[in-house]
Amino acid sequence: MSHRVVVVGAGFGGLFAIKALRRADVEITLINGTAYHLFQPLLYQVATGILSEGEVAPPIREVLRRQENVDVRLGWVRDVDVEAKIVSVAGPGIDYTVPYDTLIVAAGASQSYFGNDEFADHAPGMKSIDDALELRARIFGAFEVADLHTDPETIERWMTFVVVGAGPTGTEMAGQIAELAHRTLRGQYRHIDSRKARILLVDAVGTVLNTFGDQLSAKAEKQLDKLGVEVRTNTKVVAVDSTGIEVETIGGEAAGHRERIPTMTKVWAAGVAAPALAGRLAAATGAKTDRAGRILVEPDTSLPGHPEIFVLGDMMNLAGADGKPLPGVAQVAIQSGRHAAGQIKRRLSGKETGQPFRYFDKGSLATISRFSAVASIGKLHLSGFSAWVVWVAVHLFYLVGFKNRVTAVLHWFVSFLGRGRSERVATQQQAFARQAIRAYGDPFRRAEAERVEAERVEAERAEAKRSAAQRTATGADQATTQAR
Ligand SMILES: Cc1cc2nc3c(=O)[nH]c(=O)nc-3n(C[C@H](O)[C@H](O)[C@H](O)COP(=O)(O)OP(=O)(O)OC[C@H]3O[C@@H](n4cnc5c(N)ncnc54)[C@H](O)[C@@H]3O)c2cc1C
Repeated sequence: MSHRVVVVGAGFGGLFAIKALRRADVEITLINGTAYHLFQPLLYQVATGILSEGEVAPPIREVLRRQENVDVRLGWVRDVDVEAKIVSVAGPGIDYTVPYDTLIVAAGASQSYFGNDEFADHAPGMKSIDDALELRARIFGAFEVADLHTDPETIERWMTFVVVGAGPTGTEMAGQIAELAHRTLRGQYRHIDSRKARILLVDAVGTVLNTFGDQLSAKAEKQLDKLGVEVRTNTKVVAVDSTGIEVETIGGEAAGHRERIPTMTKVWAAGVAAPALAGRLAAATGAKTDRAGRILVEPDTSLPGHPEIFVLGDMMNLAGADGKPLPGVAQVAIQSGRHAAGQIKRRLSGKETGQPFRYFDKGSLATISRFSAVASIGKLHLSGFSAWVVWVAVHLFYLVGFKNRVTAVLHWFVSFLGRGRSERVATQQQAFARQAIRAYGDPFRRAEAERVEAERVEAERAEAKRSAAQRTATGADQATTQAR
């Protein structure tokens, strides 16, 4: 029997590890919570109507159709029995287990609301296709509703958009909402002027794109200003509800100053946390986790005392050359995936293993609007059109699937050369499903709760039967004793 490799997660880490094992004598089982691989860096373009969801989320089966040593299975891995080497999975309506010889866990990161999970109801994050489609519905819907009102305050509330988090995702999102309001929607409404939309970008830190260095941060801020985005740095979000957001100034003379911004559309692009699986895996193996729940891995990305388990990408905490934890970016996931695959191949061919993973930083990119981006590539710092060309080339290179690359280019032509956006459709269900799930329960979680309840009832019945049998036996014994 070939060596069994189970891969949890079909993101960048999992997918690139699998591709690197293409010719290895292994049987791979890939378990992913969705049937598609998600190219997260372009999610904001789905939310703002430039790309369709299919273009950033190709079916995993199709991506791996030619790799015969992979079995793709749908489901959420709930737990890992590290002694028995088995993962337990909750699929839609069916639970199952999968045994492994080597386990690769690359389950990514989820949105963190820094302990205020109730904010999610009013300020969707940007982590999934569901998030992006909900935001699309809310953003385009806000203009539609504003057009129906006559009260100026109500119109302003619908036409104010607040993006929380001025990292690459938040900056790109704010830039795109501004372009949408000023270019795409211009002249399409009879009662409102879409160009009057107010777009705010809020962050607790002092600069936008703060990991890009002072020079590029300043350039990005200038480009945002040109687009009409109000940047509020040193500003912390303290409350979020359906009709507004409350912010507080950090530091300086205005420290502690609070302000309520009336807005119906909020986007949360701040903070990440490791998924629950990371905590369970750490508890099972004795590995340590950091404040965000990421697992502290060995230099080769395996878990301490468990050379057969690798943790990759956004889920791992591993210090880079500068001593700081490697960032949660696609290249870290891709390169750590390839490294883990290399370790497995070495082990199978009897070679020495344990070589440390060395991350090669290829640079950072963020677009602000059409034809305008910032790029930090080694010592090279680019901004404006040249950075945007690099951005287009890199994203096309890494976008999975030839068809997706072709259609993405066509959509970019429509949006960047013209004014249109081809993907403005959003259904009512996309806009309101979050509230419905909150009110009526997540069907998957409900199924799990029902199963747990059924098991409890079954255990109670078995216990009652056992006690009854014991009582009967004791009664019989007593009767026998009395008879004697
Ligand atoms: C909006 C956004 C924009 C970004 N932009 C950039 C960018 O411009 N450049 C850049 O370098 N990086 C960017 N990133 C970060 C980058 O996408 C991540 O660093 C990268 O995707 C991490 O890869 P991963 O394999 O660790 O996890 P992911 O790509 O997140 O993949 C994790 C996979 O695991 C699955 N999964 C999770 N839990 C389970 C479970 N229990 N059972 C089964 N499957 C599970 C998920 O469904 C998912 O498919 C962005 C991220 C976001 C959210």
